[in-house]
Amino acid sequence: MVLTTTKIETIRKQFPILNQELNGKPLVYFDNAATSQKPLSVIKAIEDYYKTINSNVHRGVHQLSQLATDAFEESREVCREFVNAKSIKEINFTKGTTESINLVAYSFGRKFVSKGDEIIISEMEHHSNIVPWQILCEEREAVLKIAPINSKGELDMEAFENLISAKTKLVSIVFISNSLGTINPAKRIIELAHNVGAKVMLDAAQAAPHQKLDVQDLDCDFLSLSAHKMFGPTGMGLLYGKEEILEEMLPYQAGGEMIKEVSFEKTTYNELPFKFEAGTPNISGAIALKASIDFINEIGWDFIEQQEKALLDYGTERLTEIEGLKIIGTADNKASVISFLLGDAHPFDVGVLLDNMGIAIRTGHHCCQPLMNVLGIEGTCRASFAVYNTKEEIDRLYEGLLRAQKMLM
Ligand code: PLP
Repeated sequence: MVLTTTKIETIRKQFPILNQELNGKPLVYFDNAATSQKPLSVIKAIEDYYKTINSNVHRGVHQLSQLATDAFEESREVCREFVNAKSIKEINFTKGTTESINLVAYSFGRKFVSKGDEIIISEMEHHSNIVPWQILCEEREAVLKIAPINSKGELDMEAFENLISAKTKLVSIVFISNSLGTINPAKRIIELAHNVGAKVMLDAAQAAPHQKLDVQDLDCDFLSLSAHKMFGPTGMGLLYGKEEILEEMLPYQAGGEMIKEVSFEKTTYNELPFKFEAGTPNISGAIALKASIDFINEIGWDFIEQQEKALLDYGTERLTEIEGLKIIGTADNKASVISFLLGDAHPFDVGVLLDNMGIAIRTGHHCCQPLMNVLGIEGTCRASFAVYNTKEEIDRLYEGLLRAQKMLM
């Protein structure tokens, strides 16, 4: 157990937002799966950019533009290292996971998916990893197949193996479920997909803040992440794609930056990664994303994983002590997310009562309505922990839930 060390205190000092009262109570922030808080270094990176080097990138001959371009491209290199991609050509800046998945559905899907082909997703997907494939399948007359989960909220690997066939063109799977916390066996899924010649897109929105990513070791074809879930800014993220596949894909959006030459007769496209980055990018966002990765690297994965595991274990232990509380999602391999139901109480009511006590959790379907239908529930309460959370905050949640239970039952 790590939980209350001076290192956590030092980390918390970098998040001024955590040091405040809401509803007259010290804030407990347990909605990290929705978005994490931002350390001073990330906030400062945005401020410094606008104060000192704000300029458009890749275009200007003047010095400011060069400085902005250097900082922007330095971030790409740091992102490449973060996911261990072979080349910066494989790092495409996007608005986040949603845009990254849409990019693949549009640019890969419209080129490589045809009538009768199959795409596999799972029952635990976020809407952003369902709807783009539904639209694509409808348009291309392809078939969307849904891999089921078992009673613990784990992917049913036997059923998954049965779904996969020579017709499978693409498997798009969440690495860590935002609703259940399940960590999926990504390497095995990728291996099975590659055996039949299918490509794999990994939704790493929730994985990126919790564990080291290594796209070469995973051998995934695409991977997406969102900066705002890993201490970075909103509206920023990336799509990793294998260079040889990205080269073959159609552009996603068209306009400035993504072109080599334009005439009214014919346009040629820019090389990777610019081919997929039409228009002026989120420059400050990219620079702040680098700051968030620096922040993670400074803390170190070992510490993050150890601390989050301790929080998950302690949180699970305490919440299990509450009579009538049911944890939804009990996978053997789980990230620091606890979804639960408090007896028959509506999750919304529980969330409002906890909010009155200064405790921020998430309630509802967590953008996983089909999963909730499978589970036969409307939604859950969800407490999701980040490295800056503490044992004392979990005790506050425990006590808050006991009080909520008295009021609601
Ligand atoms: N996928 C998962 C698993 C998520 O948790 C989320 C956000 O909650 C998304 C995709 C969408 O991410 P974004 O809204 O940053 O595009």
